[in-house]
Amino acid sequence: MLHTDIIAPISSLLERHRTERPDKVAYWDSARSVTYAQLAERTASIAAGLAAIGLSEGDRLAIYLPNSVDWIETCLAGLRAGAVIVPISYDAAEGEIAYRLADADCRTVVTTPARQALVGKLATGLGHPLAMVLTAADSAATTLDSLATGASGAPRDPTDIDRTSFIIYTSGTTGRAKGVLLSVRGMLWITAACWAPILGLNEADVVLSPLPLFHSYGLNLSVLSVLAVGASEHIMEKFSPQQALELLQTGNYSVFPGVPTMFHYLLQRAQESGIERLGKTRMCFSAGAILPATLNRAFEQRFGTPLIDGYGITETSTMVTVNWMSGARPMGSCGLPVPGLAVRIVDPVTLVDLPIGSEGELIVRGPNLMQGYHNKPAETAAALRHGWYHTGDLAKSDPNGYLTITGRIKELIIRGGQNIAPAEIEEVVILHPQVLDCAIVGVPHATLGEVPYLFVVAQGGELDVDSLLTHCRGSLSSYKIPEATHIVAEIPRTGSGKIMRFKLVEAMKQT
Ligand code: AMP
Repeated sequence: MLHTDIIAPISSLLERHRTERPDKVAYWDSARSVTYAQLAERTASIAAGLAAIGLSEGDRLAIYLPNSVDWIETCLAGLRAGAVIVPISYDAAEGEIAYRLADADCRTVVTTPARQALVGKLATGLGHPLAMVLTAADSAATTLDSLATGASGAPRDPTDIDRTSFIIYTSGTTGRAKGVLLSVRGMLWITAACWAPILGLNEADVVLSPLPLFHSYGLNLSVLSVLAVGASEHIMEKFSPQQALELLQTGNYSVFPGVPTMFHYLLQRAQESGIERLGKTRMCFSAGAILPATLNRAFEQRFGTPLIDGYGITETSTMVTVNWMSGARPMGSCGLPVPGLAVRIVDPVTLVDLPIGSEGELIVRGPNLMQGYHNKPAETAAALRHGWYHTGDLAKSDPNGYLTITGRIKELIIRGGQNIAPAEIEEVVILHPQVLDCAIVGVPHATLGEVPYLFVVAQGGELDVDSLLTHCRGSLSSYKIPEATHIVAEIPRTGSGKIMRFKLVEAMKQT
């Protein structure tokens, strides 16, 4: 059932909750909480205040903050002011911040006092003024609170939910990040078609969220969907397995979303400390990267809590396929297409539909597709063809329509003409008892074209490479056996759990 009442302007959702559940806590973090009535009032005042300091309708508003209630208020207030929201990771490097501020032509930024000087420095290179709002200040600077308490009139509260409301920079595992243009309708369509009806997200849920809010998955689920259904949410500033376990065990939470590595570390920490239950958590949800079947099974066996896998992409306002709480759930599959979406598996070159069971590129069509890439017509034309978004992901379907993502086209390793998806090898390597984490990278080879190199984090620092390779030979054809093994301290990942393979290659070249 499509919950169409959820697809509404942000101001209508806030007003609905202000009336129906004014005293209920909407969001909280380690510093403060906000009720639905306060959220409605504060975001209205901040929105009016932003307009009063010069933010025009359609202006880009950068959010450069850590995960927090401030982040959420800024986002909702920005939308109420008619701004286009540009989230920037609080961990981004200077060059990445400068690139986003310039590429999106940001006119206002909300940041912390700790980053005031850095943002001030970057603003001088922009060629136009950048108004700065701080989360707190001991000086005369504009703050969220000064906007919230200043008398600036009514917010603009745009009613057009199809206008561009977000520019979300893709994680950029390769190349320069692209700004994905999304609307409120596209984002809330996911809530209405996926989170609410399929996963049962509802006002009784209390979510513990470690998701980075600047990423589309966190923005969609932890900011907009929690608001849309009127649930409550504890925002973690950062994921820590120990803290997440302690919080979940209190029995106060019903839903815990994460990315595969978080579940991996959560399970490992629980095994070390003898923890066997996650309080009253009814569902853990994984998206952002491949969730190996082995991890999914081991997690559910230990905790008895379903760990549901779904496949989401920034360009599709997030979810494309999802597993259901009820019925069959083939481990390793990211589920069925969200009802209302069309998906096809095609030959990436000829675009001919492939028979069921064959691996090909997944393409998607539906009301959640991006409007395009900001200022990148060529990239937009390549990604959106005849109304279909070409994901660049390789997938196959079983006879019942359950899809499995097998890798990314660009990450395929072609060794002497034979295709290897890094995930196939990683799923075997991770099962070795001395392996904590791993990644496979294709490295150029004089005669074979490319060969797989293994980067591995050893459990407790100990690793017998011969035993690991023997373990691999037990499950993998010989052409998939890693050509070289490098022991590293950690596998670099993006906020949404994706391996940054290029960083491993760079680090290897430097040693
Ligand atoms: P992003 O736009 O940063 O969220 O990245 C989207 C990409 O993440 C997809 O194109 C997939 O490659 C990957 N991804 C997301 N969710 C899953 C999943 N459940 N299984 C496998 N890959 C996933």
